[in-house]
Amino acid sequence: MGWGYCIFQSRLVVCWLACDFAKVDSILAWLTFIINIVSILEINQWQIPFEIRRTKRAKRLSLKIDSHGLKVVLVTPPWMPQLLVDRFIRSHHGWIVDKWSALQKKREERPKLEHSPAYYKARARVVIRERLSHFNQHYQFDFNRVFFRDQKTRWGSCSSQRNLNFNWRLILGPSEVLDYVVVHELCHLKEMNHSPAFWSLVEVQIPDHKKWRRWLRENHLLLTF
Ligand SMILES: [Zn+2]
Repeated sequence: MGWGYCIFQSRLVVCWLACDFAKVDSILAWLTFIINIVSILEINQWQIPFEIRRTKRAKRLSLKIDSHGLKVVLVTPPWMPQLLVDRFIRSHHGWIVDKWSALQKKREERPKLEHSPAYYKARARVVIRERLSHFNQHYQFDFNRVFFRDQKTRWGSCSSQRNLNFNWRLILGPSEVLDYVVVHELCHLKEMNHSPAFWSLVEVQIPDHKKWRRWLRENHLLLTF
């Protein structure tokens, strides 16, 4: 037995389900699918895209900004009564407005692009290849091909076939960040993990890698548009 949701006269209500958990689980999984809806949360003058994401992996209620910075997401276990979800949202209006307004400010700080995206993509190919061969003079690792991709939140990757992938948007950020990502992916050719051995390999060429990792975490929105 447990608390759950059911659809009653086409409205979602909280009810007590007197059946075993396995059944509740499958009903909830189905409901989870239909009730993750993006709505608009209005707080003061703000209109904030807001999603309630019900997932079995969640152990408690939590709020976050989605990785693209496009909406606020509330993650909740599927069994959480709507009443408590609503109360949680209300008690976190301050947090939501703070985060959302800071995000909008970041967006406005984004530099205006002087050239077309095609120009930056071509420039990224040249610069990243040049920085790769520069740093690989030290590492001397073998790799196959280098690909340039258009991704919102991934800056680089290294495949098991020893191919390297880079996001052309790196060219829009500080050159130190581009160097850090180039070295990060190069070092994955030797260490396919983020172990201390991997980081000490990175550190040889990028001693202040922590600073640039932090920059990417905090400013990635400046590079995406
Ligand atoms: Zn990595």
